[in-house]
Amino acid sequence: MRYERQELLIGQEGQQKLQQSAVAIIGIGALGTVATELLARSGIGTLILIDRDVIELSNLQRQTLFDEADVGRSKAVVAKEKIAQINLDVKVKTHAIHLNSENISVIKEANIILDCTDNMNTRFLINDFCRKNKIIWIYGAAIKTYGYAMPIFPEGPCLQCFTENASLETCDTVGVINMATTSIAALQSSLAVKILLQEKVEPSLYHYDVWNQEFKKLYIKQKEKCPTCNKMYVFLDQKENDEIKTVKFCGSGRYHVSGNINFEEVKTRIKGTCDGETIQTDKFLLFKDGRALIKANSEEEAISIYSRYIGN
Ligand SMILES: [Zn+2]
Repeated sequence: MRYERQELLIGQEGQQKLQQSAVAIIGIGALGTVATELLARSGIGTLILIDRDVIELSNLQRQTLFDEADVGRSKAVVAKEKIAQINLDVKVKTHAIHLNSENISVIKEANIILDCTDNMNTRFLINDFCRKNKIIWIYGAAIKTYGYAMPIFPEGPCLQCFTENASLETCDTVGVINMATTSIAALQSSLAVKILLQEKVEPSLYHYDVWNQEFKKLYIKQKEKCPTCNKMYVFLDQKENDEIKTVKFCGSGRYHVSGNINFEEVKTRIKGTCDGETIQTDKFLLFKDGRALIKANSEEEAISIYSRYIGN
């Protein structure tokens, strides 16, 4: 009875296929909460949820699986609890980790991977990993009033084919409406379900602006010199320490975190007081060489603030 309405469209055989499938969702935020809920209600057999963050009050505007009582708790863990209330048929595995080149193999058992992250570094890592292991993944991003989704197949164009130095804008600096994030997550989820049902899906980049009612299908050409398509997996070979590292706890809730940044670029994005050498905001003090003194309650939170506001 549970899947009656859906089976009218995909048949019992289709429903069984979904029940035998595993989907990994990377990032349980604005896109990830919606995708997780839709896929769980659709009856996907196994969901692998990955997120290092804790729930904040400012997440509730768009992260639909969470409510006020969840603030301060792990996103991956709370998502698992909510799914257990929605559909006990779904097996949920959680990893409250910062995905990197050393632990990314936790997603290997998935038939398909949904990118619901908010940063390009993780996306390029997923891109390398999926190409190398011949796994289909679905890129997704939403910002302001619009977003993009694209199914990326082992043989077709990849993320590196069309983004070299993608914009470092994130929701934390420019904002987003929840109708944009839910629409893009729904689009990613439908692409995933269609692929799991072995229906034909074009490897196009889909753009949707929910505020201005524009839907576009963009044709992406595979780039001849694309490193990933030429089996040069730079992000997969990168060690975690090359990216961001916590230097030390500096007492009274302050962490010293360092990373590789382009100070001039960061300066144009961040609203803060800049004296040429540092940028001061209410959350952190950033130095020109990529070091930052961050107010946080844990090492994870400090790294999270660094990657979201400063970049990685
Ligand atoms: Zn490529």
